[in-house]
Amino acid sequence: MTQATKHFRKRDAILSYLRSTDVHPSADMVYAHLKPEIPDLSLGTVYRNLSMFRQQGTIASVGTVNGVERFDGNTMPHVHFICTDCSAVIDMPQLQVPENMTRSAECQLGGRVAGCSLTFTGQCRECIRNIKGGETA
Ligand SMILES: [Zn+2]
Ligand SMILES: [Zn+2]
Repeated sequence: MTQATKHFRKRDAILSYLRSTDVHPSADMVYAHLKPEIPDLSLGTVYRNLSMFRQQGTIASVGTVNGVERFDGNTMPHVHFICTDCSAVIDMPQLQVPENMTRSAECQLGGRVAGCSLTFTGQCRECIRNIKGGETA
């Protein structure tokens, strides 16, 4: 295998992992997931590729959760929930940014709104369950 093929194999692996998961991984999570498969993968390569994909618009950034940037293989605008306890980033495909909200934003702005990201924060089902479990124990 040539150096170039190896390079593309890593790139493809990073991209296909992001597209196959909905955990919205950080660079560290991508690295931990792919390292067993690609032993010569470095964290630097993961960071470089993620920032390149993001610049190209191939992937999206969900923003930082507890100081760590999280990525999304799904670049279509969609609503997220972020758990402030366990840092889970969860897709909420049932919800959409209301059209009238975008319109009223444009009215106020007097300009044109190209996008809007809506993110809920709080505690996820698992964390609520763990708290309740802790209380009864
Ligand atoms: Zn949680
Ligand atoms: Zn998402």
